[in-house]
Amino acid sequence: MKYVLLIGDGMADNPVPELNQKTPLEAARKPHMDALCAKSLLGSVRTVPPEQLPGSDTAILSIFGCDPNRYFTGRSPLEAAGSGISIQPGDVSYRCNMVALEDGDKPFGEKKMLSHSAGSIDGEDSMAVISWLFDNEEFRSAADAVGMRIAPTPSFRHIAIQTGGDLKGFHATPPHDILGREIGPYALCGNENAGKLWKLMELANRLLEHHPCNERRRAEGKLPANGIWFWAEGSAVKLPNFVEHYGKNGSVISAVPLVHGIGALVGLKMVHVEGATGETETNYEGKTQAAVDCLLAGDDFVCIHVEAPDEATHNGKLDEKILSIEYIDRRVLAPLTEKLNSAGVEYRILILSDHKTLTDTRTHDGDPVPFMIYDSRKDQGSGLAYTEANGLKGPFVEPGTQLMSLLFSES
Ligand SMILES: [Zn+2]
Repeated sequence: MKYVLLIGDGMADNPVPELNQKTPLEAARKPHMDALCAKSLLGSVRTVPPEQLPGSDTAILSIFGCDPNRYFTGRSPLEAAGSGISIQPGDVSYRCNMVALEDGDKPFGEKKMLSHSAGSIDGEDSMAVISWLFDNEEFRSAADAVGMRIAPTPSFRHIAIQTGGDLKGFHATPPHDILGREIGPYALCGNENAGKLWKLMELANRLLEHHPCNERRRAEGKLPANGIWFWAEGSAVKLPNFVEHYGKNGSVISAVPLVHGIGALVGLKMVHVEGATGETETNYEGKTQAAVDCLLAGDDFVCIHVEAPDEATHNGKLDEKILSIEYIDRRVLAPLTEKLNSAGVEYRILILSDHKTLTDTRTHDGDPVPFMIYDSRKDQGSGLAYTEANGLKGPFVEPGTQLMSLLFSES
């Protein structure tokens, strides 16, 4: 028996006026998913406990059987694991964005946040600037004094690791929430450590302001990477081992470090697929083939995570959200089942949206989401299409940590 978990990130939604009060899942053409769903166990699951903020971090922890109330210590340690960086007990980590702050000699706190990604800086410039900064003598001694080091990644966002960093009461604001505003009112706060890191960010701004790379970027009409921003703090976390808990080995296929990181921390393999972008146009075929290859090579379980519907919703692109759901149906689910059928293997597939992402607000929502479990050996007879409303007609699973056991149960 082979087991597949297919997550369409943020697929689930509420009824949308532009769709005549249908949800994107109801409006999308997804004949394969609906045909399988009619033969599936269909229900709803609360993936995000009421105490937690809805997001892929808390929701996917639940789906992998890890109670977020116990195991969620912040997003960055999960992402660090997905980037192959291990955070030792006692260490804390942060996302460290390259940001563009207003130019000039104003006091640091009076500068405005122009871009949370330094104008979508490319990986090469981003790595060059952050490496230069942490190699700079003045900055390095200041960073050493607070136990801060950096793991550069080829994107606008690096991972910062602090030995013994105090997070008690610590508060940081996501930089994308304060675009166009003065940063002073959003200074890191809550404890002494926050004050020290704010000073480090101020120093980074002073040193980076006239870095040659930034002078070149300005000359090219681009925003400079003249600041760093620490946020998404979290402490080292050890997750329960999936292989021991469920008795199944397996792999996680995703374009997103967060999902890879959760997989790695529970003891599954991370599979990287070339051309997997996390966007609507991604390598669906490659991800599907990788899943089949993993299963036929001996994995019991494989997770295919598709980020696109969530991203489209955040970007306010309803048509892309619907298209990405249709792609999941046509370019993942259809070839997946066809390949498994022709290989003659028996399988069970769990399909769900990790959390709702609402077209209305363009943000996550913690309401229950529909799930379906298809079994290639038998008709379980829901007789219904995969939608939010139909999910509510079936069994309700709460807490969401129980869902994976349902996939692996043979009854
Ligand atoms: Zn999201």
